[in-house]
Amino acid sequence: MSKVTMDKIVALCKRRGFVFPGSDIYGGFASTWDYGPYGIQLKENIKNFWWKTFILQREDIVGIDSSILMNPKTWEASGHIGNFADPLMDCKNCKERVRGDHILEKELGIEAVAGKSLDQITALVKEHKIKCPKCGKMDFTEARAFNMMFKTHQGVIEETSTAVYLRPETAQGIFVNFKNIQQSCRKKIPFGVGQVGKSFRNEITPGNFTFRTREFEQMEIEYFIDPKSDIKKSFEEWKELSKKWYMDLGIKEKNLRYREHDKDELSHYSTMTFDIEYEYPFGWGELMGVAYRGCFDLEQHQKFSGKNMEYLDPQTNEKYLPHVIEPAFGLSRATLTVLIDAYDEDEIGGETRVVMRFDPKIAPVRVAIFPLMKKPELSKVARSIFDKLKEDFVVEYDESGAIGKRYRRHDEIGTPHCITVDFDSLEDDSVTIRDRDTLKQDRIKISEIKEYLTQ
Ligand code: ATP
Repeated sequence: MSKVTMDKIVALCKRRGFVFPGSDIYGGFASTWDYGPYGIQLKENIKNFWWKTFILQREDIVGIDSSILMNPKTWEASGHIGNFADPLMDCKNCKERVRGDHILEKELGIEAVAGKSLDQITALVKEHKIKCPKCGKMDFTEARAFNMMFKTHQGVIEETSTAVYLRPETAQGIFVNFKNIQQSCRKKIPFGVGQVGKSFRNEITPGNFTFRTREFEQMEIEYFIDPKSDIKKSFEEWKELSKKWYMDLGIKEKNLRYREHDKDELSHYSTMTFDIEYEYPFGWGELMGVAYRGCFDLEQHQKFSGKNMEYLDPQTNEKYLPHVIEPAFGLSRATLTVLIDAYDEDEIGGETRVVMRFDPKIAPVRVAIFPLMKKPELSKVARSIFDKLKEDFVVEYDESGAIGKRYRRHDEIGTPHCITVDFDSLEDDSVTIRDRDTLKQDRIKISEIKEYLTQ
């Protein structure tokens, strides 16, 4: 079995309609990607499975869909205007742009860099004669703060309009609505709020296909708890539930691990963060993060808005600011990870077969229906099966080309089952159903297809 590479994934995604380069006919547009017909279906299936697991099947979590554009005060309160910045330095020789803290960390270790100001970073880079990773010269500009938020303006006349930002995370839409949700839904602590939606970050180093892009989708939960409760226990629960969700999605456990953030690596709002990492073809990388945010966000919004954000405990009549555990999943990143994890190659009849072993519940096509040949009597039966099954499953009808080619195509799309209607079907009301993984072909009654697939 040969190893999966990013090149193979990118090529397959384009060839089979999962993901195309953005603005392709114009030569693309830096790190933008468009989801094709099978990609969007896969992504929707993952999103729906997340929504079902965490919102619909839990009484203590509700959903929300907040605006991407928010009152700019939100970002002052959340710390994104002040803290969401990286110290950037440009190599004067080759123009390579690097993160000052990163090149220092490589030489001196994380301890030496933690909490350093822009001036200190500039001085340390000079003092330790840090070289440009690209050209090897030692001639950098000063470190400058680069804010990762996309800025635009609201209003028709640019000069008089208000600066607004595209949200860099979905979380703040939940925090500003904390009271609305809690009161309208009569939620008692502990409870959570989940949201799926687009976020935007002007990333300095986007790349590795859809792994890091400037526009991406997140699936976040803010889980509100009593600060006097067992926080460590809730945190552990979320770590486990999050990992379990990826495994239920079909991702192999051996490719997953936890990684705790070092003290210096923690975001400005967190005192405890764990990443769940995945072993990508380019190495271990963050799949998601679980962070303990304390009451940082609610407290900040209370301060900046002047509105009380406290929760009134109906039992004790006590008022307090709830603390928060945040499992932050990435929908775009989960989709890429599923594509990588599902990729496999085997041999059939001396030929290499590429097969996407998606879990049937998220496969973009659940079942394909083929008439053995393009003959009206076969098509009629195949069409009637298609019409019946499409009520319950995503089904594809395909009658063109040799049967072997159609199988190969659906192996690459990851379709778990293919049904063939042949001449015997006209006599015995049965069809052949082929399993993508075992390649086993079963003969089953047309009336029993639905049951077979549901099992
Ligand atoms: P990274 O260090 O990988 O850029 P991060 O630590 O900045 O990620 P968080 O702020 O914790 O990411 O965001 C939570 C999740 O959102 C990430 O684990 C990831 O799944 C997703 N995510 C964040 N940034 C991006 C991005 N630029 N492109 C795609 N997904 C992203």
